[in-house]
Amino acid sequence: MKTDEKQSVSPEEMVRAALEKAEKDEWNCLITRLGREETENRLAEVLVRPEPGRLSGIPIVVKDNICTKGVRTTCGSKMLEHFVPGYSATVVERLEREGAVLIGKSNMDEFGMGSTSESSFFGAVKNPHDAGRVAGGSSGGSAAAVASGIVPMALGTDTGGSIRQPASHCGVYGLKPTYGTVSRYGLVAYASSMDQIGPMAGTLSDLELLYEVIRGADEKDSTSFRGKTGEKTECPSGVEGLRIGIPRGFFSETVEPGVSEQVLRVAEKLAERGAVSEEFDLELTEYAVPTYYIIACAEAGSNLERYDGVKYGYRTAEYEGLHDMYKKTRSEGFGEEVRRRLILGTFVLSHGYYDAYYRKACQVRNRIYQAFRKAFERFDVILTPVAPTVAPRLGELTPDPIRMYLSDLFTVPANLTGVPAISFPCGRVNGLPVGAQLISGHFCEKTLFRVVAEYEK
Ligand code: GLN
Repeated sequence: MKTDEKQSVSPEEMVRAALEKAEKDEWNCLITRLGREETENRLAEVLVRPEPGRLSGIPIVVKDNICTKGVRTTCGSKMLEHFVPGYSATVVERLEREGAVLIGKSNMDEFGMGSTSESSFFGAVKNPHDAGRVAGGSSGGSAAAVASGIVPMALGTDTGGSIRQPASHCGVYGLKPTYGTVSRYGLVAYASSMDQIGPMAGTLSDLELLYEVIRGADEKDSTSFRGKTGEKTECPSGVEGLRIGIPRGFFSETVEPGVSEQVLRVAEKLAERGAVSEEFDLELTEYAVPTYYIIACAEAGSNLERYDGVKYGYRTAEYEGLHDMYKKTRSEGFGEEVRRRLILGTFVLSHGYYDAYYRKACQVRNRIYQAFRKAFERFDVILTPVAPTVAPRLGELTPDPIRMYLSDLFTVPANLTGVPAISFPCGRVNGLPVGAQLISGHFCEKTLFRVVAEYEK
């Protein structure tokens, strides 16, 4: 259901329909579903407000690493299986202020670590287009909840592609906003220098609406951008003269041919409306995945130190002394993928290896940033696939973590550099959805929305 159908369907009906679908939850989209009574009370409170909000009565789900007051927030982990926050994230407050009705918390890769939504303690999310395939990760629950029509929109988070990639695999829209434009207050940290909350939706207009609601400065987040977010590349309307960069390396033989084809068709269609596209070499992209994984694991190693069995979360039942308690708690509370990354993160930050890995990765990150700046002097947007293939089969990538990491090739550069990127459906291969990605310069989200709208005309 789309929000523009809301004229014909009453909010009560919309929320009831969402709850009915959520109760079935065939795709394992949700970790926590709110009860009927609670949801109806929330809706009743919204409907008596004198001024209807921009999302008045719209049912919504929020990824389970975003804190919701009084509603458990697990991060897809046994470690936080029973964690109920005493406060809501800023984005959740903004949704509720506009009248959205939270109906559940969506399933995800544990602590956001994964590209398939299979590493959740609560089981894998299945793709609504083919139950034998993954929904993509880590915001797979949000993507599947939108794709299967439970809700028209949802919040996801994107540290290295976790909004865009499941959006692509599930045939919905997703935006990774410019770093700092959406508050991270109340988001459980994975890799703080790259984490961003963003919207996911079944239509472009709903995506933009949700983005408008959640964006904006927040004094509770010290990395929240407080300046004016004026667009530098202001294209007044249409795409006449829009310069599209097509990075050659992103359409190599590692990409499924059908996927490249569909994505390149986007450029053709935009060219019919006056855009100009040109191939170019985006430097250093071969280093993006290793750089991303070193930095992400290092930050995760530090951020996840807090789960020690003392302050909150899971604690092992039997132990001998403090050290044993830490060890058992963390070995039992974290899943395999999280443990692997914490070991890697600790290693790259350790004395003697810090310079060779972490510091080097930060330097490369800086160089990638420069390469992007250079690219955006020539182009307004960069067009790439979101993922090299359509949704993989369940279990296909799990035996080979490196292969899974490599599937993030096209999405991690936007997180390393902080620029915004949108994922939108551009066709199908063997009946499965394919997403295209448009990346723009910092704070040029409007350009992204406009170009996709023009493409869809
Ligand atoms: N797949 C990437 C990772 O595992 C991205 C995850 C994310 O964006 N949260 O780190």
